Amino acid sequence: MEIIKGVEVSLGIGIGTAVLLEAQEHVFDMGLIDKSEIENEQNRYHQAVEIISKNIDNNLIAFDMSDEDKDIFEAHKLILTDPVIKDGVFLLISEKLYNLEFALHIYFEKTINYFKTLENEFYAERANDYKDIYERLINSLHNNNQLITDDLDDMSVVVMDDISPSLIGELAKKKVQALVLSKGNKTSHAIILARAANIPVVTGIAFVGKIANGDELIVDANKGEVFVNPDKQILQNYYDLKQKDKHDAESLKNIIGLPAETSDGKTIHLLANIGMPEEINAAMDVNADGVGLFRTEFLYMERDNLPTEEEQFEAYKLVAIKSKGKPVVIRTMDIGGDKMAKWYPHLNEKNPYLGCRGIRFSLKYPEIFKTQIRAIIRAAKYGNLLIMFPLISSIEEFRKAKDYVEECKKELKLAELIKIGTMIEIPSAALIADQLAKESDFFSIGTNDLLQYSVAVDRNNESIAEYYNPYNMAFLRLIKMTAEAANRHNIPIAVCGELAANESFVPLLIKLGVQELSVNVQSLLRIKRLIRKLNYQALTEYPQIIGDIADVAKIKENISLMNEKVFD
Ligand code: PEP
Ligand code: MG
Repeated sequence: MEIIKGVEVSLGIGIGTAVLLEAQEHVFDMGLIDKSEIENEQNRYHQAVEIISKNIDNNLIAFDMSDEDKDIFEAHKLILTDPVIKDGVFLLISEKLYNLEFALHIYFEKTINYFKTLENEFYAERANDYKDIYERLINSLHNNNQLITDDLDDMSVVVMDDISPSLIGELAKKKVQALVLSKGNKTSHAIILARAANIPVVTGIAFVGKIANGDELIVDANKGEVFVNPDKQILQNYYDLKQKDKHDAESLKNIIGLPAETSDGKTIHLLANIGMPEEINAAMDVNADGVGLFRTEFLYMERDNLPTEEEQFEAYKLVAIKSKGKPVVIRTMDIGGDKMAKWYPHLNEKNPYLGCRGIRFSLKYPEIFKTQIRAIIRAAKYGNLLIMFPLISSIEEFRKAKDYVEECKKELKLAELIKIGTMIEIPSAALIADQLAKESDFFSIGTNDLLQYSVAVDRNNESIAEYYNPYNMAFLRLIKMTAEAANRHNIPIAVCGELAANESFVPLLIKLGVQELSVNVQSLLRIKRLIRKLNYQALTEYPQIIGDIADVAKIKENISLMNEKVFD
C-alpha cells in the first residue's frame, strides 16, 4: 500500500478502481479545401455548435447545479455562439481555404495564447474556457464526445493530469467515485463544478509511476490523501465511513432551516469559513449565520501579480451582497508561512512560520495592505462586513493595523462603521487578551495556529503530528483565558480554527464561554446537529475541567466523561 499526499479541493471519500485518462490528442486532417467546399465547412460548424448547445442545455436540466455553476455553463454557451468567433473562423475558411478543423485550430490557439499573455488569473480561466469550447467542437465534429469516458462507471476513480469543465459533467453522469489530478486548483471552473457535482477531488498528485490502471484506490478528499491498493482493514474502515457519511448527509438536510441552538434554547452563532468568494453560495445554501472567516489570501495566491483594488472590491462586494446582511468577517491577507505567493518578495526565511507572516507582512508592505483595506471599506456598504487581523502578537501591531484602516477611510472620505477584530492565534496575544479586548470589537481564536505556536509544533509536519495535540493543557488554558477576557469586556468571542468543527471539543469550547463557531461549510450542519442536542444548563453546571490537570490522556478522558453527561 502506498499513501500519496495531495491537496483536497472537493471534499468527500471515493473508493474504486483507477482509470487513467490521457488528454486527447486530436488526430484529424488539418488541410486546405476547394472553393466549392466552403459552404459545407460552414454548415459543419453550425451543426457542431447546435449539438454542443443542446448538450449544455441538457446538462443544465439534468444536474442540480448552484447558480454559480449554471453561470459557468451559460458563459460557455455565450462563447460557443459568439458571432465574432464564427466570423473569424469563417474568414479563415473562405479566404485561406482552411478546412474547419484547421480554421478552428488557428483561431482558438491565437485567442487562448492571447489570454495566457495577460498573466492574470481571470484571463487564465478564460483561456481554459476557450480551450474547453475548442475541444468540444473538435470532439463533436469527430463524434467522439463520449469516447474519453466510455470505460467509466460508478466504481471508477479517474486519474488525470488536468481536466476541463465539460468533462466534469460527463464524470458526474457516470457517477464516478472520485477524481485524482496532478494539476488544478480550488478556483478553477472544473473544480468548482466538481464540488457542485459532489465529486471528491484531490489535486497535486504526482501519479506517474505510482498509480496504474486497475489499481484499487481510496481517495480521502477530506484529508487530501490517496491510498493505492490499500490493506483490507483500511478499505473496510473507509467503506464504513463512506456509508455513514451518506446517511448523515441525507438526514442533515432536515436541519438546514433550524437554528443552531441548544436543546434548552441557548443560541450559538454558527458561521462558515470560506476561502474563495464564490463559496459564499455554499455557505448560504446551508443557512450559515454568516461568514466567521474569509481567508482572503487565496485571492493573492497562485498568480504572478498582486490583485488590484478593483478586483478585490468586486470579490468582497460579491460576498457582501450574497450574504444578505449576515455578518462576514474578512480576515486581511495571511500571506507567509506555508501560504506563499509567486509575487511575494524573496525574504529567504529559515523559519517562515516565525517570519514575515500575516499582519507582519501587511505592516511591512503598507501599500499592499492599504489596497486591500480600501477594497473592503468600499465593499462594506453592500453588506455587513467586519475586518479581522491575523497573527496579532502585540497591542502595538493591532493599533498600527487599525490606524491604516482609519487612514484609508479618510482617504476614501468614507465613514463606514466597520467592526475590527483580533485573531487570537499566538500565545502572546492570548496572554494579553484582557488588554486587546479593550480595543477590539471582537475576538476569533485561530486554534490551528494557536496550537502550533503554543506547543512549537509545525502544523503541517506529519512526522511530529503526535505533538500537535489539542488536549494539551497549556493550549486549552490559552483558549480559556481568551474567552474569559472577551466575556469580561463584553465583546463577541468566536473560534474559527478546525477545533470548532471537532465534535469532541465543541461542548468544551461553549463551556469556556465561546459564543460563535466558524467552521468549514461541509461540517456546518453536522456541528449544528451536535449543538441542538447539547444541554446548555447541564454543560454550565458540570464542574470546570480546565484546571490543574496537565496530563493529556487524563484531560481527554475528562472531556469525554463530560460529553457523556451534557447531551440530551
Ligand atoms: C487558524 O490558525 O486557526 C486559522 C483559522 O487560520 P489559518 O488556518 O488560515 O491559519
Ligand atoms: Mg491561522
